[in-house]
Amino acid sequence: MMDIAENETRFYSNAEHYWKEVPPTVDGMLGGYGSISNIDINGSKAFLNKFLGEGEGKTGKTCALDCGAGIGRISKRLLLPLFSTVDLVDVTQEFLDKAKSYLGEDSKRVGHYFCKGLQDLEPESNRYDVIWIQWVIGHLTDEHLVSFLQRCQRALRPSGLVVIKDNVSYEGVVPDEVDSSVCRDLDILHSLVQRAGLSIVHQEMQGDFPKEIFQVHTLALR
Ligand code: SAH
Repeated sequence: MMDIAENETRFYSNAEHYWKEVPPTVDGMLGGYGSISNIDINGSKAFLNKFLGEGEGKTGKTCALDCGAGIGRISKRLLLPLFSTVDLVDVTQEFLDKAKSYLGEDSKRVGHYFCKGLQDLEPESNRYDVIWIQWVIGHLTDEHLVSFLQRCQRALRPSGLVVIKDNVSYEGVVPDEVDSSVCRDLDILHSLVQRAGLSIVHQEMQGDFPKEIFQVHTLALR
């Protein structure tokens, strides 16, 4: 249903309109669940630290890309503390404007603020140790997600990683008409990752989240 071209334009423009009305706060980024931000960041830190370090096969700490960064919730507490330079990309200009003040002193180490949809982003080849993609893949069509992941793979430095952290449904594709997104199940996500030609290096489920929300899985890919 979502890959029919005539609906595609509306799928993206409805999402853009939705996010334009959302306040530029942590609570806004998390759909009212600002209280889970700490658990989320701590889980991500433990996940990422398994891969980072010096030497053979370890992922470097030079540069990261925060995809669908919003106001920079993840850049502030996860990526800027770990990487020398962080780039942010988001389709909503108002959020990127807010990021400059929200990130404080550390905003000096932001390389670029790209105001673009991920479906239109061509990340610079061989630039990133980590490309972090959280709570945004549901805004891309299957085709765009596959081709974006392919461009991400080309943008990785040696031993770099693409990380997807997102909601996962129990079965099938669950549409959200309010923010114009979809939630896919793990089998579908795996098949899209495979179509993109990436391999799953590691996968975890985020623990300690409220029971009433979707399960959240983190996948390290390269
Ligand atoms: N990843 C952040 C923000 C999540 S909210 C965090 O976890 O805190 C989802 C973000 O995705 C919003 O900032 C919204 O503007 C952005 N977004 C929605 N569709 C997008 C698209 N097609 N390309 C890039 N960003 C998009």
